[in-house]
Amino acid sequence: MSDTALDLLHRIFGHTAFRGEQAQIVEHVAGGGDALVLMPTGGGKSLCYQIPALLRDGVAIVVSPLIALMQDQVEALRQVGVRAAFLNSTLDAAAAAAVERDLLAGDLDLLYVAPERLLTGRFLSLLERAKLGLFAIDEAHCVSQWGHDFRPEYRQLTVLHERWPDVPRIALTATADAPTRREIVERLALEDAKQFVSSFDRPNIRYTVVPKDGAGTRALLDVLARHPGQSGIVYAMSRKRVEAVAEQLCKAGLKALPYHAGMDAQVRAANQRRFLQEDGIVMVATIAFGMGIDKPDVRFVAHVDLPKSIEGYYQETGRAGRDGGPSEAWLSYGLGDVVSLRQMIEQGDAGGERKQLELRKLDALLGYCESTDCRRQALLRLFGEAHAGACGNCDNCLSPPQSWDGTDAARKALSAIYRTGQRFGVGHLMDVLRGAKTEKVQQFRHGELAVFGVGADLDDRQWRSVFRQLVAGGYVDVDVEHFGALRLTEAARPVLRGEATLRFRSEPKAPPRMRRDRRASEAEAFDLDPASLVRFQSLREWRAQTAREQNVPAYVIFHDATLRAIAEADPADLEDLGRIPGIGSSKLDRYGEAVLQQLFDAA
Ligand code: ADP
Ligand code: ZN
Repeated sequence: MSDTALDLLHRIFGHTAFRGEQAQIVEHVAGGGDALVLMPTGGGKSLCYQIPALLRDGVAIVVSPLIALMQDQVEALRQVGVRAAFLNSTLDAAAAAAVERDLLAGDLDLLYVAPERLLTGRFLSLLERAKLGLFAIDEAHCVSQWGHDFRPEYRQLTVLHERWPDVPRIALTATADAPTRREIVERLALEDAKQFVSSFDRPNIRYTVVPKDGAGTRALLDVLARHPGQSGIVYAMSRKRVEAVAEQLCKAGLKALPYHAGMDAQVRAANQRRFLQEDGIVMVATIAFGMGIDKPDVRFVAHVDLPKSIEGYYQETGRAGRDGGPSEAWLSYGLGDVVSLRQMIEQGDAGGERKQLELRKLDALLGYCESTDCRRQALLRLFGEAHAGACGNCDNCLSPPQSWDGTDAARKALSAIYRTGQRFGVGHLMDVLRGAKTEKVQQFRHGELAVFGVGADLDDRQWRSVFRQLVAGGYVDVDVEHFGALRLTEAARPVLRGEATLRFRSEPKAPPRMRRDRRASEAEAFDLDPASLVRFQSLREWRAQTAREQNVPAYVIFHDATLRAIAEADPADLEDLGRIPGIGSSKLDRYGEAVLQQLFDAA
C-alpha cells in the first residue's frame, strides 16, 4: 500500500486506518485495474473510489442514480476540501455550464452524474475533451432487471468501456446475491475486473423479532426508551399506519415525523431535512423512505409491521449503524400482517409468476420470524454466506427460546378450523376454543361443537402464537378472499390423524417496564460520563445549528463518533483537537475555533 493513499485517508478524511478490503481495492483501482466491489451498506464503499480519484491524474466520473445522495456526497467532499461537483436536473443552465467549464479546465477531482445525462451525445463528447482518470459506477445492481431498482440506462454504460478502454472502472453495490452479481459482470462487461466480496454481516446490529402483543405501540415505546436522544426509523406497512404511529409517538413526547408517498412533497422534504439536521428524530415511514439516506448515526430501525421480503428487510435494517456503533433492528409482526400483505400481493397488478414469487418470499419471511435459530445465520444464508451461528447479538442467541410440545394444541386448533367450515379468522376460532359465548358463536351455533371450550387451558396470546406457527409451518393457509379465513392444507392431515408431532416456540415473556431517569439513560445510551455528556450535547446543538445554516446534513459537518471523541478528550487547543480521529485538516480550519468556543461555553 502506497503511503500516499494512507496520507490522504488521514489528512483529508481524518480516518485512522482503512477498513476491511478498502486498502486493497484502493491500490488496485489507483493502479489502473477494474474492480467489482460488493460491500454491505455502511461498509465504506465511497472511499474505494474517492481516494483513487485523488491519486489518479484526471477527473473521476461517478455514475449515481439518486439525486439526493449525489448532493449530500458532493457536499461532504467539499467540506473536506475535495474539488467535487455534480450534474443533474436540479442545476439551472448557468450552474451546469460552470461545472462543465471546471471539468474541461481540469479543476475537478470528482464529478457525479446521473446515468441519463451521462449517456447523452452532448455529454459524451464533452468527456472526449476532458482528462479522465476513473469511472465509478455506484449502485451497480440497478443494471439488474430482477431487482427493485432497475434502471434501463445502466445497461448502456458499456459505452464507457468501449470509448475509453484505458480508463479503469469500479462498480459498487450492496446487493450481493449470486444472480445479480453475474448480471452486473455481464451487463457492464466486467469479466476481467477483480472482484472484492466483503462479508455482509453487520455485527454491530442486534436483531430482535417479537410477535405483536395486541397492546398497540407499547412494545415500540419500550424499544425507543432504550434510545433517548438518538435518531431512528420506524417502518410501517401503510400510509394510514404511518400517520397513526407517528401521532402516538408524538403524544408520548417523542420527536416523531411521518414520511410517505401520499404526503405533500414539500412537507415530506422538510421532514427529511429535519431528520438529517436535527438529533433525536424518529422518522415513521413507509418503505418510500430510506433510499439515498446516508445518515451514519441511525441507532435503531424498527418494523412495526411485517415487511414484504427478507431481502427488503435486510436492506432496511442495514440503514442502522453505518458508523459501526451499536444499533438495533427490531421487528414486530402478527398474523393480521400476513393477511394484509397477501391481499396486497394478490390484488396487485403484477403477473402470475411474479405474484407467486412474492408470496413465496412472504412465506420465507414468516418462517424467519418464527425460527428459533440464530437470526444472523439465517439472514446471511440469504446472501450465500455461511455463518457458524451463536452470534451473541440477536434475540435467539441472547435468550434462547424455549419450545413446547404443541401436538395437542395444534390438533385442537386444526379441528376448530375444520369444524367451523374453514370460513373464519383467528379471532373467532380463539373464541370457540376458549369457550367464549360471543354473538357470533351463538349466531353460527358453534357452542354446540365438540371443540367448543376445549382450549380454555391456553390464553389468547398462546393461541395466537399457535395459529401463527401453524401458518408459518404451512399447515394452515390464509384465505385472503374471505377476510383472512383459515383453511387446512394437505400437511394438516397427519397432525389431525395423530400421526405427526409438533413443537412450538414459546412466547417470550414481555420484559417489565422500566421507568428511568432520562438523563441517566441518555448517558448510558451514549456511553459517556456525565461531564462528557454535557459537552456532547452542547456540541450537537452547535452542529444542528451549523447544518441548518449551511442547509446540509449534520453528519457532513461531524459524525457523532467524532463529537463523542471531542467531548471525551475535551481538547484545550487546535493542536489537541486536530489529533482526534474524524478531523482532517480542512475541517480543523473550518470549524476548529467554533468547536473550542463551544466547549469553553459548555464548561
Ligand atoms: P456505503 O456506501 O458502503 O454504505 P459509506 O462509504 O457511506 O458506506 O461509509 C459508511 C460510513 O463509514 C461513513 O460514515 C464513512 O465516513 C465511514 N467510513 C468509511 N471508511 C472508513 C474508515 N476507513 N475509517 C472510519 N470510518 C470510515
Ligand atoms: Zn445470533
